[in-house]
Amino acid sequence: MKFDPGRIQFRLTAGMVLASILGFGGMTAWSNFRMQQILIKGHKENAYEIAERFGQDVAWMDETMPSQEALQKVINYRSTADTAIWIRSPEGEIIAKSDTLEMGSWEKDGFADEIIQLPSTTQLSTIEVQDRQLIACIAPLVVNGTELGILFVIDDITQNQRSFATVNRDLTLASIFFIGLSAIVITLYVRQSIKPIRKMNELAANVCSDNLADTHLEFDRAPTEVRELAQAFNMMLGRLSAAWDQQRRFVSDVSHELRTPLTLVHGYLQSTLRRCNTLSEPQREGLEIAATEADRTIRMLQDLLDLARADGGHMRFHIERVPLKELILNTIEMCGYANDRVKVELQSGGIEARADRNRLKQVLINLIDNGVKYSEDNTVVTVRLKQEDEWAVIQICDRGRGVPMTDLTQIFDPFYRVDEDRSRATGGTGLGLSIVKTLVEGMRGKIKVQSTPGEGSIFTVSLPS
Ligand code: ADP
Repeated sequence: MKFDPGRIQFRLTAGMVLASILGFGGMTAWSNFRMQQILIKGHKENAYEIAERFGQDVAWMDETMPSQEALQKVINYRSTADTAIWIRSPEGEIIAKSDTLEMGSWEKDGFADEIIQLPSTTQLSTIEVQDRQLIACIAPLVVNGTELGILFVIDDITQNQRSFATVNRDLTLASIFFIGLSAIVITLYVRQSIKPIRKMNELAANVCSDNLADTHLEFDRAPTEVRELAQAFNMMLGRLSAAWDQQRRFVSDVSHELRTPLTLVHGYLQSTLRRCNTLSEPQREGLEIAATEADRTIRMLQDLLDLARADGGHMRFHIERVPLKELILNTIEMCGYANDRVKVELQSGGIEARADRNRLKQVLINLIDNGVKYSEDNTVVTVRLKQEDEWAVIQICDRGRGVPMTDLTQIFDPFYRVDEDRSRATGGTGLGLSIVKTLVEGMRGKIKVQSTPGEGSIFTVSLPS
């Protein structure tokens, strides 16, 4: 199927995939953000709590032992591998510090030396030193109402941040995977939901006058909107079919009603022309023109009647095995064409077709007549007969004016003429080829035409043999 962004299938799929990207992506981003916030908040609270209690802890220890020792004891008690604590006196000296600062990971690259220089500004914040994320809680240390110096509680959260980044990455990968998975599921789901519409489209494209009455859309398991659309479509088809029937009946009735009086008129004109010797030349000429036009109109009405009957499925075919050689020779002889105007070429004798003898004669007469009409008198119209697999093939070839490529598909339409003025001059009705097509298809055969303007045409009729 061609990619088309205007398709409802594409729009629905894109919309739903976008929604899932926003859903999964947004959820992942939000949870990452919240986890980061919770992590930092937890560490900040921890550092703040240590700093807040530090004075009390020292005061409590101080009752039993000297102050320096109490400070060290509380520092040792509160510090961990990730938390370093030290106290700087108002003069800027380090009074006590945790062993953490001497641990390898803290001493490495002079990290401990660098952070010990941190300014004594009171703060509770996140800082970055040598690419390491730290929570710093710096506050004055007051023991029993006396300010001993500045307390530094530094929590190294680099490791936690790394673990968090790993979780973060896993979460992002998982959400990408789920977005991909949901895109596949959505595509399949939308395609499935759109299926009835596509089927409806196909059916609608194939509706023509022949199957109008029999076409009916049935979508029991389709979504409600599609079912409603199908129902509306069925009702429209019903109305169209009724209108079509009415039109056909009208054409048939009018043709029938006009044909009878016109046949009478034609008969009177003919007998007047035959019997009346007193007619002046202009009168005779006028009556002859009237008789020819009446004859042409009667033929057209008969053709219209035939077409209307065939369209309504009321045309009966008496299918039998017809020996084609005899039929072709018979037809040509019956039509009485001028000498050497129509020639027959037979591949071999004994070719038979399953057809209606009289209808097939009518087909041949129309096609040979056209060949003769639309070519010069000094050219030959050839009728070929051959067998091709299970088909008996009759070709009517002329060396006439041919049909332009653009008109080829339309010449089988009722009243279609390639060159209206020139075709009218031949006395045709414009219905001949429509009748031919209707009759051939009614006998389960096929008809096609090849033509080169200025060189001639080949009409090929294939009938089941
Ligand atoms: P018509 O009564 O005008 O012959 P048809 O239905 O038989 O009507 O043919 C339709 C049109 O197709 C004709 O008007 C003519 O222009 C063209 N046509 C049919 N047969 C031939 C042919 N053998 N060579 C050239 N043009 C043809």
